[in-house]
Order: sequence, then structure tokens, then C-alpha cells
Amino acid sequence: MSYCRFQYQNAIRYGLIERVRGVETIIRTMATAPRSWPELEGAERSDLPLSEARLLSPVEPSKVVCIGRNYREHAIELKHPIPTEPLIFLKPPSSVIATDDAIRRPNTLSQRVDHEGELGVVIGKRCYRLRPGDNVRPYVLGYTCVNDVTARDLQEKDGQWTRAKGFDTFCPVGPVVAANLDPWTGVSVQTRVNGQLRQNGTTVDFLFPLDTLIHFISQVMTLEPGDLIATGTPAGVGPLQPGDSVEVTVEGVGTLKNPVLDLE
Ligand code: ZN
Repeated sequence: MSYCRFQYQNAIRYGLIERVRGVETIIRTMATAPRSWPELEGAERSDLPLSEARLLSPVEPSKVVCIGRNYREHAIELKHPIPTEPLIFLKPPSSVIATDDAIRRPNTLSQRVDHEGELGVVIGKRCYRLRPGDNVRPYVLGYTCVNDVTARDLQEKDGQWTRAKGFDTFCPVGPVVAANLDPWTGVSVQTRVNGQLRQNGTTVDFLFPLDTLIHFISQVMTLEPGDLIATGTPAGVGPLQPGDSVEVTVEGVGTLKNPVLDLE
């Protein structure tokens, strides 16, 4: 089960996707962001091949909350200590782009722009100050692919990460939001550059499981429907060059694919 946000002719809508006679088809649509799957399943009927729709970012988050160093091997490759509690930071909503949109390297400001393929969690229900032991699943609408694009040189230079993580186009999200996967039992998260495998992780290697992450974030800020959590990147981060094509594949979601260009 998955949904997209798409443009067709001049309208932008959310669409429930199902395979009909072997073709990925948008079978239900609604104007506003869905908060549950039954809401989508009861929306207006449609019969539009997915290939005829232009995919947009499937979420319009009020914030993107990211987790730093949630995989042991990635912390080691950046020579950071293994954290004892989650490390969170934000990407601005203005950094979000869709699949097929270009990542623009701010080439006059940064000489090193890296890919970070990650599992994205989409919030479906407002969530604030969860108590220990609260079940987080009712707050999760689904999952998507995120590329937490990072100007690595600026991350080191600035000492905090707002600039390095916050450039426009630095948060590709998509192509869809899917429900039929279970990060608790392990889904693979892979990143390819020009078809070559660069990152190959699984969510069973999270240092902090999803329950801990959502609980931790909710002690700080209210998570709103449509908000996105990027759950950290596995080892293998590396630079992107103009002309590259970068793909993030999350098992059960699909592949988020973006060309890389220079800003100037
Ligand atoms: Zn990241």
C-alpha cells in the first residue's frame, strides 16, 4: 500500500496507488494530505496510470527532524564517538525536493557535498511528550526514502549543522509513502551513485530503535501530521559530483532518484 503527491494537468493531489491489470495506477485521490490509510481508501475514485502523473514530494512537512549517527559504522567512519542518546537536528522545509528534481551543489560555498541515504518516517497523528512504554506505531503513517544531502566541509567548519544540511534541494524525499514494511524487523537502505552501490545498511543495525527516536523527539517538540523523521545514514557516505545520478532505495518503498548539478 502506498500513496504519492502528484501533479496532473493543473491540479496537485494525493493519490492512493495500486497495481491494476499489471499497471501502477492512482485509484483514489484527495486534495489534502491523508492522515490515515482508511481516509485514502475512502477518497474520490480515479483511474490514472502513475506514469502519467508528475510526482512531487509525498510530504509537505512543517519540519524535517534528522538523527545523527544512528548506525555504529557511520559514526566510526566520521571519527565520532558512539552516542549514548539520540542526536537530533533539523532540515528546513525549504530544502525538500521530489524524485527527479536536481540536487544543486552550492559550489561557490562548498567543495564537498555528500549523499546520506536514509529511511524516512512520516507522522500521521500529532505526537507530543510520549510516556515510557507508549506504542509509537499509531503515530506513524508510513515510510519513504530520504537523502540527507550534506555539505561535509561546512558541517566541520561551522561546528553546528544548519548551513551544511539546510541548502535548498538538500532534502530529496519520495518517490511515495508506503505502509507495508516493518523497520523493527529490518528493511534494507541502499544508496547508489551512477548505478554503483555506495551504502548498504539495514534498520536492524539502528543504534536507537524507532520507538526510542520518536519518544526522544516528542519530549522536545510536537510532531505534526506530515512531519518527516530521517532516521540516520549507514556507513559509506561520499561525495556527489555535477552530472552524477544518486539513488536511495528503501526496501518496500522504492527508489528516490535525483540528478546532481552545480548551482552556479
Ligand atoms: Zn543524515
